[in-house]
Amino acid sequence: MTFDEFNIHEQLLEAISYMNYEKASPIQELAIPPALLGHDILACAQTGTGKTATFVIPIIHDIVTNKLEGTTSLILVPTRELAIQIHQEIQGFSYFTDTTSKPIYGGDKGADWDAQKRALTEGTNIIIATPGRLLAHLKLGYVDFKQIQHFVLDEADRMLDMGFYDDIQQILSYIPQQRQTLFFSATMPPAIQKLADKILQNPKEIRLSISKPAEGVTQKAYLAYPHQKNVVIQHILQQNPSYDSIIIFTSTKRMVQKIVHDIARKNPGITVEGISSDLEQKEREEVLLKFRSKNTKILVATDVMSRGIDIKGINLVINYDVPSEAVDYVHRVGRTARADSKGEAITLISDVDMYKFARIEALIEKEIPKLPIPAHLGEAPVWKSKQSKSFKSKLQENKQQHKSQGDGNSSQKQKKKRFWRPKKKPNSQSNEAQ
Ligand code: AMP
Repeated sequence: MTFDEFNIHEQLLEAISYMNYEKASPIQELAIPPALLGHDILACAQTGTGKTATFVIPIIHDIVTNKLEGTTSLILVPTRELAIQIHQEIQGFSYFTDTTSKPIYGGDKGADWDAQKRALTEGTNIIIATPGRLLAHLKLGYVDFKQIQHFVLDEADRMLDMGFYDDIQQILSYIPQQRQTLFFSATMPPAIQKLADKILQNPKEIRLSISKPAEGVTQKAYLAYPHQKNVVIQHILQQNPSYDSIIIFTSTKRMVQKIVHDIARKNPGITVEGISSDLEQKEREEVLLKFRSKNTKILVATDVMSRGIDIKGINLVINYDVPSEAVDYVHRVGRTARADSKGEAITLISDVDMYKFARIEALIEKEIPKLPIPAHLGEAPVWKSKQSKSFKSKLQENKQQHKSQGDGNSSQKQKKKRFWRPKKKPNSQSNEAQ
């Protein structure tokens, strides 16, 4: 389906064409038409599916077509990085219109607070906010959200994981009950479903298939004891000298700096930086900018970075440790092979993490090849067959579950057209060539 079939405002269509979006992705095809008609939407879709455009396009269409003034749309997101990214995407879509937007997030003091206050009081059309900072402004009484017509909750599962449930409830008390609500979540556990039931009215439900890494990602794993991990990283770097953009994920902030120091010490010619919530907002933005522009070759990050961040041309994702939540694996790995490009993901599995990795394999319904580390690095752990068995039974369970899941329409559509193939941007980098 192409975007002109959606019957959206001409200026919006022009911007979409400039952004080189040619065909709608499955979530866009399923959710944009009912959203344009004003329906509430409950969408189970992970990052990388094109979900941002799914809620941004109907919002801008309404603002431009009906010449809406003042703050009519509120988008709540779990992290400041996602707020900034959505804001940038809105700027692209609204390039030929007068639509205004502003990201509101915590971490900055002084001037940033004042700029946020101005945006919130001077009628910015679309506010994209993290809950804590928005609530801090709301409580001071100068924000009038009575005109809000579109409310988006993005990455709802992540929001709840981060403990934003009460904040969301409070924010809802500031916006009209009569509104359109667009609800996006990568997973739909009972707590999310309960929240959705509470805040949505007769929603159109759209469930894309379960989280799976994009087809373009080559996945493999090394079995290594914790003390072997740094030398395995070194081995991987030596094996892939042409890669110019690599992310290494680790679960703890403490490990970020350790890994950065180890790589920098052993590879003086390689630029490597760390990012975690320990950094000030400005520092985080600078680190990201350098990585985005390929001035930094290796970024070591905690899971804060694994969701939603859209950086093109990442060749390789290394999981220094196995994420505790299986779905986080998909988010981490999803940083490479964005859109239709190719990428590689390598996970280091220690003896104590095998059961977690078996869970991941069950979720993604795929057995990942486990490579031996080079012999000179010492004896490595052995993959436990018991866990392989549990993988197989979980795989079977999952398959049964997914057969009986989802609404008939969307799953039929998916069967026909599993992958959407966006047109490559003219200046986008190809991972294959590197
Ligand atoms: P998202 O899931 O919203 O984070 O989007 C992932 C990436 O896909 C972003 O770089 C989007 O700009 C891009 N994208 C989304 N929809 C399309 C489309 N229909 N055609 C081409 N690229 C798209």
